[in-house]
Amino acid sequence: MIVVLGKGATDEQIREVCQRLEAVGYQSAVWRGVQRTVIGAIGIIDEQVKDRLIEQLESLPFVESAIRILRPYKLVSREWKEDSSEVTVNGKQIGSEYFVVMAGPCAVESREQLLRAARGVKAAGADLLRGGAFKPRTSPHTFQGLGKEGLILLKEVSEETGLPVITELMDARDLEDVMEVAAIIQIGARNMQNYTLLRAVGQVRKPVLLKRGLSATIEEWLQAAEYICIGGNDQVILCERGIRTFETYTRNTLDLSAVVAAKKLSHLPVVVDPSHGTGKWDMVIPMSLAAAACGADGLLVEVHPDPANAVSDGAQSLTLERFAELMQRLQPVLQAVGRKLYQSPEKTLSPAPVAEP
Ligand code: PEP
Ligand code: MN
Repeated sequence: MIVVLGKGATDEQIREVCQRLEAVGYQSAVWRGVQRTVIGAIGIIDEQVKDRLIEQLESLPFVESAIRILRPYKLVSREWKEDSSEVTVNGKQIGSEYFVVMAGPCAVESREQLLRAARGVKAAGADLLRGGAFKPRTSPHTFQGLGKEGLILLKEVSEETGLPVITELMDARDLEDVMEVAAIIQIGARNMQNYTLLRAVGQVRKPVLLKRGLSATIEEWLQAAEYICIGGNDQVILCERGIRTFETYTRNTLDLSAVVAAKKLSHLPVVVDPSHGTGKWDMVIPMSLAAAACGADGLLVEVHPDPANAVSDGAQSLTLERFAELMQRLQPVLQAVGRKLYQSPEKTLSPAPVAEP
């Protein structure tokens, strides 16, 4: 349930509502917006007690309404918080008028590979460096990532280039190590419903990017985000990365309608991963432009200095030149939807022609 108080609600009025909620066994959480103050009741109580409480609360002159939230998620919902949330990473706001671009290789392979990728994406205007040290690979016989050694490389390259890092956490036992390096903790598609892991990142105070599960509905995805928020970490970014459908031409079906739906149902920022979403490098630029056009707050895109020799996901990775082209081509689309990039891409990197695969 949420209790809505009008503009100008006093501390005393807020306290009274919280006390009434807590008296029947709820935990309360207060959100002060510009237009209204919303107090959330978290917990499960008897339905009859709830009915009576709603009536009593609505009889208070300063309470606009007490509303049952029927959705299986609350804290991430727009009903709970009307204004869109912004997640701040190194002074940049994800979910604002700026479109944030995170780019880099699928996996950290070597210092040289990571540094070349980082320098290239930075020059082209990327805001964050992506790169997996712990890789959730479908086959246990394929490269599993450099692990802690990969984290060390991410840290070194981040310090050298000044780019903050987003990297995946697969096991809560690595949380401390990942926290040292990452500006954003990535929770991969395969772990979207790993509730132990979600609760673990809910306990820390660091932004979390939550990928949509391979076959997750939008509602399941939002409930997964709720697991993180309920621990007190509301710095959550949703990431649409394609879902399983009957189509086999593409690796996944990038569900851009989920961006629109998630932004309607939730106040959290939503970014798009067109690399895993398609599995094909030549679809990455068009789908990135479409993501920008449909209201996504940013991109997570795979870029490799030498995709033909990448140890993972080379087929869906952009070269540095093509990434520079993407950054240039994003600009008019963003302008059309009233948004912009933080950094203008350097003009020296001339757009590469779209080559054949
Ligand atoms: C990744 O971004 O490197 C990754 C493994 O993605 P996903 O979890 O979406 O498959
Ligand atoms: Mn990948």
